[in-house]
Amino acid sequence: MLREHVEIFLSPDKGRGLRCKKNGPPIKAGTLIIEEDSYCFTLLEGQEEKRCHYCLEEQSPKLLLTCPKCLSAKYCDEECQRRPPPTYAACRCPARANFPCKLPAVPPPVAALTVPTSRACPPEAAHKEHLSECDGYRRLMKLPFHLRLLGRILYRQSTRKYEQGALGPLSDLCSHIEELKDSTELKTQLQKLSRNVNEDILPDRDQLEILYGKTTCNCFSIHNLDLGEIGVGMYPQAAMMNHSCKSNCVVTYRGPRLQIRALVDIQPGEEVYHSYAEKGHNTRERRDELSKYFFECQCSHCLDTDRDGTMMSVKCPSCRAQVKPNSNERYVKCSSCGYTDFSAEFYEDLEVYIQYADDVNHKPRVWATDILFTNIVKNCLVELDKILHPDNIHTVRILGGAFAAAVKLEEWAKAINYGKRLERVFVLYLPPNEPDIGLLYYKMGKAYYHLDDLDNALASFRKAKKMLGIAYGRDSQLADYAQEWLELCGDYGSSSEEDETDINSEIDRKSS
Ligand SMILES: [Zn+2]
Ligand SMILES: [Zn+2]
Ligand SMILES: [Zn+2]
Ligand SMILES: [Zn+2]
Repeated sequence: MLREHVEIFLSPDKGRGLRCKKNGPPIKAGTLIIEEDSYCFTLLEGQEEKRCHYCLEEQSPKLLLTCPKCLSAKYCDEECQRRPPPTYAACRCPARANFPCKLPAVPPPVAALTVPTSRACPPEAAHKEHLSECDGYRRLMKLPFHLRLLGRILYRQSTRKYEQGALGPLSDLCSHIEELKDSTELKTQLQKLSRNVNEDILPDRDQLEILYGKTTCNCFSIHNLDLGEIGVGMYPQAAMMNHSCKSNCVVTYRGPRLQIRALVDIQPGEEVYHSYAEKGHNTRERRDELSKYFFECQCSHCLDTDRDGTMMSVKCPSCRAQVKPNSNERYVKCSSCGYTDFSAEFYEDLEVYIQYADDVNHKPRVWATDILFTNIVKNCLVELDKILHPDNIHTVRILGGAFAAAVKLEEWAKAINYGKRLERVFVLYLPPNEPDIGLLYYKMGKAYYHLDDLDNALASFRKAKKMLGIAYGRDSQLADYAQEWLELCGDYGSSSEEDETDINSEIDRKSS
């Protein structure tokens, strides 16, 4: 459902986008802007054995029900197995029906806009829908996630008759097929897919290529509450929202259901954005990530060379002050002591350290016990601190790993130590109320609680509850957990402390 707070508009350089209604009230932080059930989704590789393929809930593999036919689809219980998939409601926003859409390569078929919104699904619809793919499901689950998703879309389209021929709700999405057309990547991927799905579901080559482009350019990563990636899904309405590295909205999930909330107050006429790229990356890294969407971001973060300089800053070899590189990524002069002797050895060392940090960061965790891994990140951090400034993103990434490991091993004093350093850089690099910051305060609250520091625990849980309420919704599980911890710390009075934002989003929910 597209909320009443936003409208579609055509921006001169970015095409279609969403903005806070020009003639409406401002959108308050925490307001739910879009809530949408997935058109189609799938689990990432490695998740299919431990999660329900319907609701994405994690379960002990032994407890999951397995489809007796394909032996691959797994469900929490019979209820999940039989539950109908959410009815995909086409957007009813009146602006959309009349919108002169210039972007898609394929003209939007009229049928897409007249999909009945309250289709009566027979109760066994989920099962029926799975039946369409059951035959090929085992092979499908052997493919990488983006081909799994495309395969599931094809199986669905072969049964959801009203979408046959046309692409249904996906028809408005960009495929970037002109850019992709001649790539060997496209050919290899489609070959791989074609070999692993039933032949009768394959559309003609052009349609297949377009659908491939639409899927890779528009799919969303589905996260669990702790921001771990667990799946990918198609959300055609949410896909209308443009990207900015300096985003004012955030995407979260309840199972496969997507929700987008405002992180900050947004003024009438202002565009709403979420970030398609990792927010803690520097501009070069983000550009790399964004290249698959075929645009170059020109947001204020991307043009802010000083911000990138901070992200790549080192310690002055002479006085330890922060030194930022110039636009060619060269370190020229320490502004504190005037040191200029950044030698070839300095750059060699730097490269070694960064490579070391990357290796630790990408190390497959399977072989390492928690304690071993904790020691690896701890040692890495000690080394990086010798040459990189604490604001350097390579240090920040290792710090994140060290914090998570300390929390897991319940080494609370260390967790506080790492957490305080993370707090500083999160505030520096992330949008206000970003889930990472709320989760950090939540975990620090726990650490303070276990160290019997109730004052700091209360302060952390209060911040966590407020921020998690904004990013995930006040009625979210995480906001509830934070409230439970507050009560455990003796604070029962927080309902009287609700701030204006929270109350407003509550009103929004009721009036919708
Ligand atoms: Zn389930
Ligand atoms: Zn099956
Ligand atoms: Zn940007
Ligand atoms: Zn210096």
